[in-house]
Amino acid sequence: MIYTITLNPAIDRLIFLQEQLEKRKNNRAHKVLYDVGGKGTHASYAMSKLGVENLALGFAGVMNLAKFQQVLEDKEINHQFIATDGSTRESVILIDPENQGSTMITEPSFTVSAADKEKLFDYLAVNLTPQDLVLVAGSTPAGFDLVDLTELLLLIKTKGCFLACDLSSEALKLAIASGADFIKPNELELQELLVGEETVEEKLTEIAAQVAVVIASRGEQGSICYFEGKQYQVIAPHVEEVNDTGAGDCFVGSFLATFYQTGEIEQALMLASGCAASKVRYEDSCYFNLVEAQELKSKVRIKHQN
Ligand code: ATP
Ligand code: MG
Ligand code: MG
Repeated sequence: MIYTITLNPAIDRLIFLQEQLEKRKNNRAHKVLYDVGGKGTHASYAMSKLGVENLALGFAGVMNLAKFQQVLEDKEINHQFIATDGSTRESVILIDPENQGSTMITEPSFTVSAADKEKLFDYLAVNLTPQDLVLVAGSTPAGFDLVDLTELLLLIKTKGCFLACDLSSEALKLAIASGADFIKPNELELQELLVGEETVEEKLTEIAAQVAVVIASRGEQGSICYFEGKQYQVIAPHVEEVNDTGAGDCFVGSFLATFYQTGEIEQALMLASGCAASKVRYEDSCYFNLVEAQELKSKVRIKHQN
């Protein structure tokens, strides 16, 4: 079984404005759409769309729980979130007409309690088996500190699961130190790991000695994967970019789904690059088109570095 864990999910409310956003004015909207926010849920969406069974876990605020669950169900994401006091944060995205840009406002998260954390840890302790893959992705909410994240990652490792992490900054460092089996830092996340005069290449070589699958993603330039002592340079197909937010989440979900099922690294890299390239063609932060993804997959090129 594949599990994704989104500790700090969000509901994205996309508000399409009739005219350009202006202060001291009643800005009217002509359309409102809801989308799921949170990296693990985005990865779950990609996995489900590829027909790979998975379950999205995490915390969700009790005050708008029904709304959050509705958004997940609209996206056909199987879920089992632990209800916490407060609301799941809503991100308001104000979209100006004719692609003139957008303004995003993100609410603060709920605060998870010790009892909420126990519920999540107990669920994992009872249900995880060594055959499972667990993806921990995205930011952490208030009340969930680095010590809690350490406990979570070590619990997943102790159960013998494949631990995949899409995390940033200190949480990413912790993932590497906790024995993560997969990470996918983007360019900024990699820069944050560098110490002193160290280069990105040196850092990646060092991490690849500890983490089984390391993928450094570089937006439209594709990615570099380190696996079993080999390096794969993946060249992304060219597409007209509309919104690249969520490209990494789509890549992670489709990569892990394929890799978990087949163990074939190159197939997984190619399909993930095809799905993510399709994703960036759409405004939505997780939608991609399956037929288009297959066409784009056939345009992905992989160069072997050694
Ligand atoms: P996220 O917003 O989901 O966190 P990220 O910054 O982690 O994204 P990126 O490095 O931006 O991830 O993109 C991940 C992958 O998506 C890339 O390695 C590439 O395969 C694909 N991708 C991203 N942008 C483009 C693009 N403009 N054209 C084609 N493919 C793209
Ligand atoms: Mg990016
Ligand atoms: Mg990312």
